[in-house]
Amino acid sequence: MTRICRRFDNLGLQDGVPDGRRWRLGIMGGTFDPIHVGHLACAEQVRVAFDLDAVIFIPTGRPAFKQDRDVTPAEDRLRMCELACLENLHFDVSSLEIRRHGITYTVDTLRELREHYPPNVDLYFITGADAMHSIVQWRESAAVAQLAHLVAVTRPGYPLTEEKKREIAERTEFDVSYFEMTALSISSSMLREWVEQGRSIRYLVPNRVHSYIETAGLYRKPQEA
Ligand code: ATP
Ligand code: MG
Repeated sequence: MTRICRRFDNLGLQDGVPDGRRWRLGIMGGTFDPIHVGHLACAEQVRVAFDLDAVIFIPTGRPAFKQDRDVTPAEDRLRMCELACLENLHFDVSSLEIRRHGITYTVDTLRELREHYPPNVDLYFITGADAMHSIVQWRESAAVAQLAHLVAVTRPGYPLTEEKKREIAERTEFDVSYFEMTALSISSSMLREWVEQGRSIRYLVPNRVHSYIETAGLYRKPQEA
């Protein structure tokens, strides 16, 4: 069987058979270039609000929506996610999308998770409001809808209007819940820019991630790196 992640590979099983209780597993996909407190607070607040047993962060290999810029090597993004998850026993990271070469599609990931976990584990796919805007164009969104519940989280700058919600309800089959999280106006793009400009991103990423970025010289201007 494929290994999804270290902590939660046997979720829902006891001695190799379904253990008779229902489990709720959150999945948070992203480029995580770098992972920041917006991602972590989002996962944590959704975990508590939806009574999830765990959340797995899955950094993309080559993201379908981000073919326009050079993404930091997968190993660095994966390592930063691992460092960020050390402090939360409910969090873990999976390299499953990174191991799968080529462009990443959510539907393939959810299928792989669905095949791995027993039927008593429900999947909750967590996504920010910005990704929600492109959801109607997601590859095989009908299939995605069958595989996981969707949790759409508010994000500053991307209003989830009633009209948008109606469009999603009409044009997709998602079982979607909307969740209002603390507004954290932080994005990885902003953090990359700030590092390049020599501004501090300390406290906007976990300390260990901050040290990693400094040591590896990530996001600096090309001549300084
Ligand atoms: P980039 O600027 O490079 O796109 P990002 O900050 O948007 O980076 P991603 O890796 O693209 O980060 O996002 C992963 C997931 O986290 C997406 O579902 C996104 O909507 C969500 N997310 C990212 N930042 C926030 C935030 N500050 N608040 C709520 N959700 C967020
Ligand atoms: Mg983004």
